[in-house]
Amino acid sequence: MDKIIFATGNQGKLREIRMILEGTGLEIISMKEAGVTGDIEENGTTFKENALIKAKAVCSMTGMPALADDSGLVIDALGGEPGIHSARYLGHDTSYDIKNNDLIRRLEGVPDEKRSARFVCAIACALPDGRTFTEEAAMEGRIGYEIRGENGFGYDPIFFLPEYGCTSAEISPEEKNRISHRGKALRAMRLRLLSILDEQQEGSL
Ligand code: IMP
Repeated sequence: MDKIIFATGNQGKLREIRMILEGTGLEIISMKEAGVTGDIEENGTTFKENALIKAKAVCSMTGMPALADDSGLVIDALGGEPGIHSARYLGHDTSYDIKNNDLIRRLEGVPDEKRSARFVCAIACALPDGRTFTEEAAMEGRIGYEIRGENGFGYDPIFFLPEYGCTSAEISPEEKNRISHRGKALRAMRLRLLSILDEQQEGSL
């Protein structure tokens, strides 16, 4: 295995995974480079299921190893919403200003200790021999009372990190990478991939 497809159309995610998998000897191919077009329906009920659906679909379409991720914001006081529907919450094309203000409004009157939330990220890997692997990680925080910060994207401006005293839109991209759900899940997947590569090398000796 020397190439692996990352099932995303998002250039930012592609850059991030290329950085984290640097030094493994694996070349990360985009869906476009692999000639995969069209949307894959994410009809799973968990982050892991959705990541697996995407990785398996791309692996079977191409016959190549594939990685995929699924992530979102889980708010305890809202029964886990928006969860796996985070990107679609209030509609795909609705601005995050509107989505974020709506969540703040829904938490009106909810005290600090009940505003707990987490970003979750699942990464799945599907290999042509049928094996699959998943890794999942979270970043814990609280939903703030106002929109704060210009870094990051999506729900970052309302995601308050108590140990930093600010939102995840106010820390540097490097610091976010270090502590984020996606950074942690990707680094765990890097270790998995390294052990698969080791196994394969031993098998070919
Ligand atoms: P997907 O993983 O590309 O399906 O997108 C998940 C959605 O969850 C994103 O569109 C964001 O709304 C939200 N999300 C996931 N990770 C983050 C993050 O690190 N910051 C802010 N929002 C996030």
